[in-house]
Amino acid sequence: MSDERRHLAAELNIGFAALTPLERLRSLVERAGGPVVFTTSLGIEDQMITHLIFANDLPIQVKTLDTGRLFPETYTLWRETEEKYGRRIKALYPQADALEALVNDQGIDGFYYAPEFRRNCCGVRKVEPLARAIAGAGGWVTGLRRDQSANRSDMDFVSFDGARGLIKANPIFDWSRDAIVAFTAEHGVPVNALHAKNFLSIGCAPCTRATRPGEPERAGRWWWEEETKRECGLHVDGADRPARDVTNRPA
Ligand code: SF4
Repeated sequence: MSDERRHLAAELNIGFAALTPLERLRSLVERAGGPVVFTTSLGIEDQMITHLIFANDLPIQVKTLDTGRLFPETYTLWRETEEKYGRRIKALYPQADALEALVNDQGIDGFYYAPEFRRNCCGVRKVEPLARAIAGAGGWVTGLRRDQSANRSDMDFVSFDGARGLIKANPIFDWSRDAIVAFTAEHGVPVNALHAKNFLSIGCAPCTRATRPGEPERAGRWWWEEETKRECGLHVDGADRPARDVTNRPA
Protein backbone atom coordinates (compact mmCIF):
# COMPACT_ATOMS: atom_id res chain seq x y z
CA MET A 1 0.00 0.00 0.00
CA SER A 2 2.71 2.46 0.91
CA ASP A 3 4.50 1.61 -2.35
CA GLU A 4 1.32 2.52 -4.24
CA ARG A 5 1.04 5.79 -2.33
CA ARG A 6 4.68 6.56 -2.95
CA HIS A 7 4.18 5.90 -6.65
CA LEU A 8 1.08 8.12 -6.72
CA ALA A 9 2.99 10.92 -4.98
CA ALA A 10 5.76 10.67 -7.58
CA GLU A 11 3.17 10.82 -10.39
CA LEU A 12 1.44 13.83 -8.88
CA ASN A 13 4.79 15.50 -8.34
CA ILE A 14 5.55 15.32 -12.06
CA GLY A 15 2.02 16.35 -13.04
CA PHE A 16 1.93 19.36 -10.73
CA ALA A 17 4.62 21.19 -12.68
CA ALA A 18 2.26 22.00 -15.56
CA LEU A 19 -0.75 22.93 -13.39
CA THR A 20 -1.96 26.09 -11.68
CA PRO A 21 -2.25 26.01 -7.87
CA LEU A 22 -6.03 25.59 -8.15
CA GLU A 23 -5.63 22.70 -10.59
CA ARG A 24 -3.08 21.13 -8.27
CA LEU A 25 -5.53 21.25 -5.37
CA ARG A 26 -8.27 19.72 -7.52
CA SER A 27 -5.94 17.01 -8.72
CA LEU A 28 -4.99 16.15 -5.15
CA VAL A 29 -8.64 15.98 -4.05
CA GLU A 30 -9.42 13.61 -6.93
CA ARG A 31 -6.51 11.29 -6.34
CA ALA A 32 -5.58 11.44 -2.64
CA GLY A 33 -7.73 8.43 -1.79
CA GLY A 34 -9.11 9.99 1.39
CA PRO A 35 -9.95 13.33 2.99
CA VAL A 36 -7.62 16.21 2.22
CA VAL A 37 -6.57 18.56 5.01
CA PHE A 38 -4.89 21.95 4.70
CA THR A 39 -3.10 23.20 7.80
CA THR A 40 -2.77 26.97 7.77
CA SER A 41 -0.55 29.16 9.90
CA LEU A 42 -2.36 32.20 8.44
CA GLY A 43 0.81 33.48 6.76
CA ILE A 44 0.47 35.07 3.34
CA GLU A 45 1.15 31.83 1.44
CA ASP A 46 -1.45 30.00 3.47
CA GLN A 47 -3.95 32.80 2.98
CA MET A 48 -3.61 32.37 -0.79
CA ILE A 49 -4.37 28.66 -0.46
CA THR A 50 -7.26 29.30 1.94
CA HIS A 51 -8.68 31.68 -0.65
CA LEU A 52 -8.41 29.06 -3.40
CA ILE A 53 -10.16 26.48 -1.22
CA PHE A 54 -12.95 28.66 0.12
CA ALA A 55 -13.61 30.74 -3.01
CA ASN A 56 -13.86 27.58 -5.11
CA ASP A 57 -15.67 25.52 -2.49
CA LEU A 58 -13.10 22.74 -2.64
CA PRO A 59 -13.73 19.76 -0.34
CA ILE A 60 -10.58 20.38 1.68
CA GLN A 61 -10.68 20.76 5.47
CA VAL A 62 -8.91 23.94 6.61
CA LYS A 63 -7.36 23.65 10.06
CA THR A 64 -4.96 25.68 12.18
CA LEU A 65 -2.80 24.89 15.19
CA ASP A 66 -3.45 27.43 17.92
CA THR A 67 -0.32 27.19 20.03
CA GLY A 68 -1.65 29.74 22.53
CA ARG A 69 1.35 31.96 21.76
CA LEU A 70 0.23 33.57 18.49
CA PHE A 71 0.33 37.32 17.81
CA PRO A 72 -2.88 39.31 18.41
CA GLU A 73 -2.72 40.27 14.72
CA THR A 74 -2.90 36.58 13.79
CA TYR A 75 -6.07 36.07 15.81
CA THR A 76 -7.56 39.16 14.17
CA LEU A 77 -6.73 37.77 10.73
CA TRP A 78 -8.23 34.41 11.67
CA ARG A 79 -11.53 36.12 12.53
CA GLU A 80 -11.44 38.34 9.43
CA THR A 81 -10.83 35.34 7.20
CA GLU A 82 -13.78 33.42 8.63
CA GLU A 83 -15.97 36.50 8.21
CA LYS A 84 -14.90 37.11 4.61
CA TYR A 85 -15.49 33.56 3.39
CA GLY A 86 -18.27 32.56 5.79
CA ARG A 87 -16.36 29.42 6.68
CA ARG A 88 -14.83 28.13 9.89
CA ILE A 89 -11.13 27.37 10.21
CA LYS A 90 -11.00 24.43 12.57
CA ALA A 91 -8.72 24.92 15.58
CA LEU A 92 -6.53 22.34 17.24
CA TYR A 93 -5.02 22.96 20.67
CA PRO A 94 -2.22 21.38 22.65
CA GLN A 95 -3.19 18.62 25.08
CA ALA A 96 -3.81 20.35 28.41
CA ASP A 97 -1.88 17.82 30.52
CA ALA A 98 1.15 17.91 28.25
CA LEU A 99 1.14 21.70 28.15
CA GLU A 100 0.91 21.99 31.91
CA ALA A 101 3.80 19.56 32.33
CA LEU A 102 5.86 21.41 29.75
CA VAL A 103 5.44 24.84 31.33
CA ASN A 104 5.92 23.49 34.84
CA ASP A 105 9.10 21.72 33.77
CA GLN A 106 10.87 24.31 31.68
CA GLY A 107 9.12 27.60 32.36
CA ILE A 108 6.71 29.67 30.33
CA ASP A 109 9.45 30.87 27.95
CA GLY A 110 11.77 27.91 28.35
CA PHE A 111 12.37 27.74 24.59
CA TYR A 112 14.96 30.52 24.85
CA TYR A 113 17.21 28.53 27.15
CA ALA A 114 18.12 25.39 25.21
CA PRO A 115 17.40 23.90 21.77
CA GLU A 116 15.79 20.84 23.34
CA PHE A 117 13.44 23.06 25.34
CA ARG A 118 12.43 24.75 22.10
CA ARG A 119 11.82 21.40 20.43
CA ASN A 120 9.81 20.27 23.45
CA CYS A 121 7.62 23.36 23.19
CA CYS A 122 7.09 22.95 19.43
CA GLY A 123 6.42 19.28 20.03
CA VAL A 124 3.64 19.91 22.54
CA ARG A 125 2.15 23.01 20.95
CA LYS A 126 2.50 22.11 17.26
CA VAL A 127 3.70 18.64 16.31
CA GLU A 128 1.29 16.63 18.46
CA PRO A 129 -1.76 18.73 17.45
CA LEU A 130 -0.69 18.39 13.81
CA ALA A 131 -0.78 14.62 14.17
CA ARG A 132 -4.42 14.87 15.24
CA ALA A 133 -5.19 17.43 12.51
CA ILE A 134 -4.11 15.09 9.71
CA ALA A 135 -4.99 11.72 11.26
CA GLY A 136 -6.91 9.65 8.75
CA ALA A 137 -6.29 12.05 5.87
CA GLY A 138 -5.26 10.87 2.43
CA GLY A 139 -3.63 14.17 1.52
CA TRP A 140 -2.07 17.04 3.43
CA VAL A 141 -1.74 20.48 1.84
CA THR A 142 0.88 22.97 3.00
CA GLY A 143 1.97 26.44 1.92
CA LEU A 144 5.67 25.60 1.69
CA ARG A 145 7.69 27.41 -0.99
CA ARG A 146 10.96 26.32 -2.51
CA ASP A 147 12.75 29.63 -1.95
CA GLN A 148 11.69 30.19 1.66
CA SER A 149 14.90 28.70 3.02
CA ALA A 150 17.81 26.43 2.15
CA ASN A 151 16.09 23.65 4.15
CA ARG A 152 13.19 23.67 1.72
CA SER A 153 14.98 24.02 -1.59
CA ASP A 154 15.28 20.28 -2.17
CA MET A 155 11.67 19.41 -1.32
CA ASP A 156 9.16 18.41 -4.01
CA PHE A 157 5.72 19.58 -5.06
CA VAL A 158 4.35 16.31 -3.79
CA SER A 159 5.90 13.63 -1.62
CA PHE A 160 4.84 10.58 0.35
CA ASP A 161 5.17 11.17 4.08
CA GLY A 162 5.94 7.63 5.11
CA ALA A 163 5.70 8.10 8.86
CA ARG A 164 2.32 9.79 8.63
CA GLY A 165 1.13 7.57 5.77
CA LEU A 166 -0.20 10.33 3.55
CA ILE A 167 0.54 12.36 0.47
CA LYS A 168 1.92 15.79 1.23
CA ALA A 169 1.37 18.46 -1.41
CA ASN A 170 2.79 21.94 -1.70
CA PRO A 171 0.66 23.61 -4.41
CA ILE A 172 2.49 26.95 -4.42
CA PHE A 173 5.95 25.45 -4.03
CA ASP A 174 7.23 27.23 -7.16
CA TRP A 175 5.61 30.60 -6.47
CA SER A 176 7.73 33.57 -5.45
CA ARG A 177 6.80 35.74 -2.52
CA ASP A 178 6.24 38.68 -4.86
CA ALA A 179 3.80 36.68 -6.97
CA ILE A 180 1.85 35.69 -3.85
CA VAL A 181 1.74 39.28 -2.62
CA ALA A 182 0.38 40.31 -6.04
CA PHE A 183 -2.20 37.49 -6.00
CA THR A 184 -3.53 38.37 -2.54
CA ALA A 185 -3.75 42.06 -3.45
CA GLU A 186 -5.56 41.34 -6.72
CA HIS A 187 -8.09 39.01 -5.09
CA GLY A 188 -8.64 40.98 -1.89
CA VAL A 189 -7.34 38.18 0.30
CA PRO A 190 -6.91 39.29 3.93
CA VAL A 191 -3.31 39.11 5.16
CA ASN A 192 -1.59 39.53 8.50
CA ALA A 193 -0.97 43.21 9.34
CA LEU A 194 2.49 42.22 10.58
CA HIS A 195 3.67 41.49 7.03
CA ALA A 196 3.69 45.27 6.42
CA LYS A 197 6.04 45.63 9.40
CA ASN A 198 8.69 43.34 7.92
CA PHE A 199 7.49 40.16 9.57
CA LEU A 200 7.92 38.02 6.46
CA SER A 201 7.36 34.66 8.13
CA ILE A 202 5.05 34.66 11.14
CA GLY A 203 4.77 32.01 13.82
CA CYS A 204 4.47 32.27 17.60
CA ALA A 205 5.01 35.77 18.99
CA PRO A 206 7.96 35.04 21.29
CA CYS A 207 9.76 33.14 18.52
CA THR A 208 9.29 35.59 15.65
CA ARG A 209 10.91 38.95 14.97
CA ALA A 210 10.83 41.28 11.99
CA THR A 211 13.44 40.64 9.32
CA ARG A 212 16.06 43.24 8.48
CA PRO A 213 16.76 44.42 4.92
CA GLY A 214 18.63 41.72 3.00
CA GLU A 215 17.89 38.94 5.48
CA PRO A 216 16.31 35.66 4.28
CA GLU A 217 12.55 35.35 4.75
CA ARG A 218 12.76 33.02 7.71
CA ALA A 219 15.58 34.83 9.49
CA GLY A 220 13.09 36.13 12.03
CA ARG A 221 12.03 32.65 13.18
CA TRP A 222 13.93 31.25 16.21
CA TRP A 223 16.65 33.75 15.33
CA TRP A 224 18.79 32.76 18.32
CA GLU A 225 19.28 29.22 16.95
CA GLU A 226 21.64 27.89 14.31
CA GLU A 227 20.08 28.48 10.88
CA THR A 228 20.02 24.84 9.73
CA LYS A 229 18.00 23.83 12.80
CA ARG A 230 15.25 26.44 12.50
CA GLU A 231 12.32 24.14 11.81
CA CYS A 232 9.60 23.21 14.24
CA GLY A 233 9.28 19.56 13.27
CA LEU A 234 6.02 19.90 11.31
CA HIS A 235 7.75 19.36 8.00
CA VAL A 236 10.11 16.60 8.95
CA ASP A 237 9.04 13.26 7.55
CA GLY A 238 8.63 11.00 10.56
CA ALA A 239 9.17 13.85 12.99
CA ASP A 240 10.19 12.51 16.35
CA ARG A 241 8.07 13.45 19.28
CA PRO A 242 10.53 15.49 21.34
CA ALA A 243 11.42 13.99 24.68
CA ARG A 244 9.32 15.28 27.51
CA ASP A 245 11.97 14.53 30.09
CA VAL A 246 13.63 17.88 30.68
CA THR A 247 16.88 18.33 32.51
CA ASN A 248 19.08 21.37 33.08
CA ARG A 249 16.02 23.54 33.10
CA PRO A 250 16.30 27.11 34.27
CA ALA A 251 15.17 27.69 37.82
FE1 SF4 B 1 6.82 27.16 21.47
FE2 SF4 B 1 8.11 29.04 20.09
FE3 SF4 B 1 7.62 26.57 19.03
FE4 SF4 B 1 5.64 28.37 19.42
S1 SF4 B 1 7.39 28.53 17.99
S2 SF4 B 1 5.56 26.21 19.85
S3 SF4 B 1 6.27 29.32 21.38
S4 SF4 B 1 8.96 27.11 20.79
